[in-house]
Amino acid sequence: MSALKADMFDAPIETIASKAMMEPPVHMKHPNAVILLSGGLDSAATAAIAIERGFELFALSVDYGQRHRRELLAAADVAASLGVSRHVTLRLDLRVFGGSALTADLDVPKSRSDAEIADGVPITYVPARNTIFLSLALAYAETIGAIDLFLGVNAVDFSGYPDCRPAFLDAFERLANVATKAGAEGARFTIHAPLLNMTKADIVREGARLGVDFSKTWSCYDPAPDGVACGACDSCTLRRKGFEEAGIADPIIGRRVIRS
Ligand SMILES: [Zn+2]
Repeated sequence: MSALKADMFDAPIETIASKAMMEPPVHMKHPNAVILLSGGLDSAATAAIAIERGFELFALSVDYGQRHRRELLAAADVAASLGVSRHVTLRLDLRVFGGSALTADLDVPKSRSDAEIADGVPITYVPARNTIFLSLALAYAETIGAIDLFLGVNAVDFSGYPDCRPAFLDAFERLANVATKAGAEGARFTIHAPLLNMTKADIVREGARLGVDFSKTWSCYDPAPDGVACGACDSCTLRRKGFEEAGIADPIIGRRVIRS
């Protein structure tokens, strides 16, 4: 009998079991997950968290005709810098519906106070956007055998969008389990929103801890034609608040971006 086998026979059952647990089958090492990647700092931080948790990431961005298409370039840069397995950008032009300052010729609100941002649902809300996007992410997930979906929604320092709230996430998770073949066959989907209860400063700190390159992210809803963040829309305001409160310099605000 070899020394190895003798050791195993002498060891308590628990020890043998834990040794087996230390080396899971190859297909178990990095379960696939889909992340909705907008190119903003929230989704970048969420992606970094998912990677830290051991997931192999498949990123999905949506070119929905948004005013700030610059964010799609950021999404590609973030995906590359984090080393996701695949990054898909899906075209779905929501300007056909309009109804939002991000998809129609409506002014983006500027220079609003924190209280104004926190009050009500602003005109930058895109009707049912996260329902649409999560549905696409769910289809992608089912295709690649993933049951974990990540998105960077936040319900603390946010614009009051209803599809960023816990009730929405809970409802969508239930929907995923009854809407899919995988769910019907027993799979249980999980919607991960690790930033949900973080402040913007917490998110910046978490991103910094995980080595997110913030210079690759983009937040502004209404960049100038020459590619400079406006510094005054709600998204710029929340981003500035987060970096200031975290005591970390933002490499983007006010900087010209060549590839606009
Ligand atoms: Zn802005």
